[in-house]
Amino acid sequence: MIALFPPEYVDARSRYRAFMDEHVYPNEIAIEREDDDALALLAELRERARGDGLWAPHVPPEAGGTGLGFLYYACLNEEIGRSMYAQLIFGCQAPDAGNAEILHLFGTDEQKEEFLRPLVAGDTRSFFAMTEPDVAGSDPTLLRTRAVRDGDAWVIDGHKWFSSGADGAGFAIVFAITDPDAEPHRRGTMLLVPAETPGVDIVRPVPVLGHAGRGWNTHCEVRFTDVRVPAGNALGGEGEAFRLAQKRLGPGRIHHVMRWLGQMQRAFELMCRYANQREAFGGPLADKQTVQNWVADSAAEIQACRLLTMDAARKIDEGSEARVEVSLLKVYAANVLVGVIDRAVQLHGARGLTDETPLARMSLNARAARIYDGPDEVHRITAARRILRSFRDGDGWQFS
Ligand SMILES: Cc1cc2nc3c(=O)[nH]c(=O)nc-3n(C[C@H](O)[C@H](O)[C@H](O)COP(=O)(O)OP(=O)(O)OC[C@H]3O[C@@H](n4cnc5c(N)ncnc54)[C@H](O)[C@@H]3O)c2cc1C
Repeated sequence: MIALFPPEYVDARSRYRAFMDEHVYPNEIAIEREDDDALALLAELRERARGDGLWAPHVPPEAGGTGLGFLYYACLNEEIGRSMYAQLIFGCQAPDAGNAEILHLFGTDEQKEEFLRPLVAGDTRSFFAMTEPDVAGSDPTLLRTRAVRDGDAWVIDGHKWFSSGADGAGFAIVFAITDPDAEPHRRGTMLLVPAETPGVDIVRPVPVLGHAGRGWNTHCEVRFTDVRVPAGNALGGEGEAFRLAQKRLGPGRIHHVMRWLGQMQRAFELMCRYANQREAFGGPLADKQTVQNWVADSAAEIQACRLLTMDAARKIDEGSEARVEVSLLKVYAANVLVGVIDRAVQLHGARGLTDETPLARMSLNARAARIYDGPDEVHRITAARRILRSFRDGDGWQFS
């Protein structure tokens, strides 16, 4: 397994593993309480991670991080992804990671100074406000939030929801329609909006599967009413929102999958250990053929996800957008994630639903993976259309 990554990446990963063993796993239950003590503990662990040189591995040093590219980050996430809180501790949490990526790629010097620098430093958090309750998020040409130019300002009005991490964030990247008469994919602009701007109302954290969360761990309904931001707060230029969304969501999706690799491996290990330990009907669960099927299928599926991730990460590092690869990977891995965790829960019987193992919380979080950053159905369409177009053009499809 280790040979799949360069040795220096594996060395770096072992430093993350040591940190996880010493500081993250023993504190997971305390962090999960989401009270003031949990926040203080998180702040302390973030400081420690920074001091140990493990901070912001998703972005390169010139953007304030310690990253070496997507393949490197994929390798580290086999550790970081195992705990839901570790990404926050290492300063690479969604949605900030994706937001930092597009600020790094498309921000002006002034925008980088005002928004990117404090974001990567961990001095502030951000949110990405695209999805709206009243239209289908799968089809962003339907978005309604409007921004109108008034002198040297944009004035934003709209209603968003599922703005992850909006509670307590310092700024938003808002997807707004700025030219409704343009061709559909030139209608939108991304605007940088400080959260304290008058008219920004974080209405509520929307409870998701019974959990409203706090701070970073929220998915909020947000209203923008006559929100004025300077014209210079347009990110990447007017009419560029669709292009930037693609740039942001591509890496964001593969970041999610990398994290899931850690989650699936953790669930798999819990399943295998418990199968050897728990006895029923005259022997360990490990001796039952159904359980053996679960183990074999899970092992094959997890390894397939790892290889698909590495393939996509390498292609992105080489400058490709890897649109087909990322879409296929996102669908496949989300379903493997849900399936492997579900088998592990089932194998643990009632214990699998308690907080004696991390599986119940992992299971709740996993379900959303098939929906956020594009539901399964839409990614299948995206990938299949591109493959079929390539056949129509006479090129076929190269499994490069
Ligand atoms: C935990 C979580 C966090 C999120 N964080 C953010 C965030 O930070 N910022 C943000 O802007 N958004 C966020 N989202 C929103 C997410 O990106 C959207 O939910 C997603 O894009 C789908 O949009 P929708 O919910 O409006 O579903 P809709 O677009 O209404 O689709 C509903 C269902 O219809 C089906 N469907 C849609 N299109 C097709 C098709 N062409 N063919 C067949 N079936 C189809 C799919 O099954 C889909 O699930 C988050 C969502 C979740 C669950």
